[in-house]
Parts: sequence; C-alpha cells; structure tokens
Amino acid sequence: MKRISWNQYFMAQSQLLSSRSTCTRLAVGATIVRDKRMIAGGYNGSIAGGTHCTDEGCYIVDNHCVRTIHAEMNALLQCAKFGVATEGAEIYVTHFPCLQCCKALIQAGIKAVYYAQDYKNHPYALELFEQANVKTEKVSIDKDIFLSFAENV
Ligand SMILES: [Zn+2]
Ligand SMILES: [Zn+2]
Repeated sequence: MKRISWNQYFMAQSQLLSSRSTCTRLAVGATIVRDKRMIAGGYNGSIAGGTHCTDEGCYIVDNHCVRTIHAEMNALLQCAKFGVATEGAEIYVTHFPCLQCCKALIQAGIKAVYYAQDYKNHPYALELFEQANVKTEKVSIDKDIFLSFAENV
C-alpha cells in the first residue's frame, strides 16, 4: 500500500466522519488539525441525545434543516468543551462551509480551510476568508486510496 499524503489522510478522516451524519439532506465531516495532528472531528447531527433527522425527518425552516449542528461547529465545540486551542489550526471539510461556519472558523483562529467539494461557496465567505488571511484550498479525494485501503482490510 502506497503512503498517502497528509491532505489525503485528513480529508479521508473527514469523509469517514461524514458517514456518522444523522441528517438525510447532506452528510458533512470536519477534522481540525494542528501541527499535523488531529485535535478534533465532527459531523453534522442533532445535539447529543436529541431527535435525529434519520428517525423523524429533517426540521426544515426556509429550506434549511435547523435540527443539526454543522460538522465544523461540532468540531470547534469539541475543542471548546475540552479546552483545546484552535488558534493557528487548520480544518479539513468534505464540503465548503456555510457562511455561519466560515465566520466561526475565522473567529476561532483557523488559518486554512481544505474542502473536498464546492458547496454554494458564498461570495461573502470567500471575501471574509481573504480579509482574515485564511487560506482556502480544494483537496479532492483520491478514490484510488480508498480502494487500495479497502483491499487491505
Ligand atoms: Zn436534517
Ligand atoms: Zn455550516
């Protein structure tokens, strides 16, 4: 098995996390990384102990599911809960973050956002990232890596 790059490694982690999502509309995963170490991970889902979209359907307001906490927020909140600094950290997300998450990531001191898939990519979010000097880079998942891994399981 060939050694994979850090980008592919962390994005694969986010992809795996997304498979824990409980929202039927979109499955998102996020991994926060500092000094090449994963410090937190999250996926979009209900608050702990709450009703899942997968059980009772999404709670739609203005065409958005309001039941779930987004993957990026869950990863940041995990850091808040356990007292882990996010200043200067980077995040790997399966989908480009929504505007609310973008603002939270900037405010938490995240310095780079790697995303596997474009997702609406709000122009104001891009503007804010640029202003805050946050790097954004698309890192597409190399499916061959998953296949070669699966062969070895
Ligand atoms: Zn939902
Ligand atoms: Zn979001």
